[in-house]
Amino acid sequence: MRKSTLSRREMLGATMHLAVIGSLPLLLNACTQSKFHCDDVSGLGEDDLALRSALEYRDLSPHGEQKSCSECAFYRAAKKNECGGCTLVRGPIHPLGYCNSWAAKG
Ligand code: SF4
Repeated sequence: MRKSTLSRREMLGATMHLAVIGSLPLLLNACTQSKFHCDDVSGLGEDDLALRSALEYRDLSPHGEQKSCSECAFYRAAKKNECGGCTLVRGPIHPLGYCNSWAAKG
């Protein structure tokens, strides 16, 4: 039987490269989706702006895609790469966004 000539460090490096390559489609998808903004609130009134601000809505969730607007029970999806809506927060809502009222889809 032939003994492997790869050192432990080389094996670990190769494994890390494979992990990075494997996650590229997810990273590219996230980059593509986050390249548009949902921050045009010019049509909103004071109360809607205040609520949006109080709930700390932002276009990019600090918790990752699993806990973003597109995974929230209140999100109303639009076409791909367009801002959606929300039944709680008025105005354009980014699918990768987040606010403090996030609730998992039921
Ligand atoms: S409630 Fe908040 S987290 Fe949920 S869709 Fe609306 S803005 Fe996004």
